[in-house]
Amino acid sequence: MRRPFIAANWKMHKTAQEAVAYAEHFLPLVGQLREATTDIVLAPPFLALPALAQALSRGPGSTSPPIGVAAQNVSAEPHGAFTGEISLDMLTAAGATSVILGHSERRQLFGETDAGVRAKTRATLAAGLTPIVCIGETLDDRETNRTLDVLTRQVEQGLDGRSREEIGTLVMAYEPVWAIGTGHVATPEQANAAHRHVRGKLKEQFGTDAAACRIIYGGSVKPDSIAALMAQPEVDGALVGGASLDPVSFAKIVALSHETA
Ligand code: PEP
Repeated sequence: MRRPFIAANWKMHKTAQEAVAYAEHFLPLVGQLREATTDIVLAPPFLALPALAQALSRGPGSTSPPIGVAAQNVSAEPHGAFTGEISLDMLTAAGATSVILGHSERRQLFGETDAGVRAKTRATLAAGLTPIVCIGETLDDRETNRTLDVLTRQVEQGLDGRSREEIGTLVMAYEPVWAIGTGHVATPEQANAAHRHVRGKLKEQFGTDAAACRIIYGGSVKPDSIAALMAQPEVDGALVGGASLDPVSFAKIVALSHETA
């Protein structure tokens, strides 16, 4: 049984102060669930990350399993002349526990490639953080029946060179591009079919260790859609954008996913 993994992607929203206020509101709402077996992760913008990590660690129930903090991107390079980049050492020092890699907005707006995702995944695992590797097809891919080919390419190229032991520690996020920020959530059956395909590819590449890898769904998840998604056997959690910006809405998603898992 895989442990559910529910992550919030705040994108370019919230200052450090706003992130701390969010944590103070959110922690009591999920207090009891932290005793339970759901991994909860918040991904703020870089500048809010240290303050958020601190606020979460001193909140009520801080002896319970901690709520993780993720970065939304990282450099694969350890240091050097890379203006505007952030290293894994910097993220670790700031309190990050995981990193979102290859989000479709980074692929589409900032030219991120499968090779770049591969390098960042390798570096993130080597630094001891959890990669949350995003994959997913565009609307055009889906309408022209290329969804499974795109997922195959992204899995094979993004994870090439990783070991069997590593694969169980990372999280794959299936995020169909047509569902992100559009209000058009994939049906539970569509999500499960894509996840099943990804699991099959992971098994081909990494053998039985692939069974431990969490595959989470992202794309317009809301409190009213999470339960049906989580009821699918291959859906191990969610990556939530818009509906995670409000602590009440995100806490509902966490609670409902916990009930269903
Ligand atoms: C995301 O940005 O990863 C995402 C899934 O966004 P939304 O939930 O707003 O579609």
